[in-house]
Amino acid sequence: MIRIRPEVASLNPYVAGRTTAAVADEIGLPEAAIVKLASNEAPDGPFPSALASAAGAISDANRYPDNALSDLADRAARHHGINVDNLWFAAGSSSTLRESALAVGGPGTTAVFPHPSFVIYQMATALSGAVGKPVALDAEHRIDLDRMLSAIDSTTTVVYLCNPNNPTGTITRTEDTLRFLHAVPGDVLVVVDEAYGEYVSDPAWQSMIPEAVARDNVIVTRTFSKVFALAALRVGYAVGMPTTLAELRKAQAPFTVTTVAQVAATRSLQDPDELARRQKANAAGRRGLEAGLADRSIAYVPSHANFVYLPMEDPERTFVGLQRLGIITRSTPGGLRVSVGTDEEIRRFFEALDSLSLV
Ligand code: PLP
Repeated sequence: MIRIRPEVASLNPYVAGRTTAAVADEIGLPEAAIVKLASNEAPDGPFPSALASAAGAISDANRYPDNALSDLADRAARHHGINVDNLWFAAGSSSTLRESALAVGGPGTTAVFPHPSFVIYQMATALSGAVGKPVALDAEHRIDLDRMLSAIDSTTTVVYLCNPNNPTGTITRTEDTLRFLHAVPGDVLVVVDEAYGEYVSDPAWQSMIPEAVARDNVIVTRTFSKVFALAALRVGYAVGMPTTLAELRKAQAPFTVTTVAQVAATRSLQDPDELARRQKANAAGRRGLEAGLADRSIAYVPSHANFVYLPMEDPERTFVGLQRLGIITRSTPGGLRVSVGTDEEIRRFFEALDSLSLV
């Protein structure tokens, strides 16, 4: 028997949302009849312009990708008004989270993160050999910054803020986040995960990118998997000071972002009208989802992202009932998370929910 590192042996593998094909197979419906609201994906395909460019890029597949991601870095730097050396790209933002954890973690260190929140913080911490310190959300399902600060001690090397928070969709207000960043010791890395940042329209929320390019212990992570609708191509990035990113990226393998992904992401950033259209469509879908829940007197947490969280005692029961009817959602220990789909998908969700009369 091979000898596995104890940190790895004790890990539970990431459980992804179920695929439409697997559920269709299980319940005996055609795949087209399945509605997937489980993984906070964009309900529509990639931006049309990105699709055309990416298809063309496949012909270069015999060559290794541009390891400097020159075109994408140039376009993303312009998009955010920062320099190219403030950017570090990876195969999805979860890779930057994992590699950052490997770079700063290790035996004898601790990592502080909210709970419930994105499960990768816990997994990356364990993989690095560090000990995780989960901090419960407050009564309004928001990140409890005071308790997060109290959890930091001399062993802590990294703290994660998920803003908006997955799975609850709540935001941390700009003034509170800034206060938090200033209070964290300068030798502790603060990772502000803004995977859902493009969906926020509340003026009380602002990106921490300006802080990340000015403070050597802060990075912001972003992704092309959500509003840019490129989840399957795997491309995300971290923003920070060049000296910080240079150290963190030592934990990364080379050539992790494919040429097709680079081209599709670069082209997507050149289409601000389509981005605005997607943001507007998500806001409308989210309003529709929340209004439907309110009409039925079903408790939900007002969301700033592309999903809505329904706190409930037995989410698994609702999850299973919906899945039997071809609607895939996400069950978490404290509630059900439902991604914002198309109008038709939201209609199908409510039709199924009404027929269950469970909640
Ligand atoms: N961060 C959060 C909070 C997420 O919910 C997700 C994915 O669902 C990610 C990061 C990962 O995104 P990526 O596809 O870029 O790895």
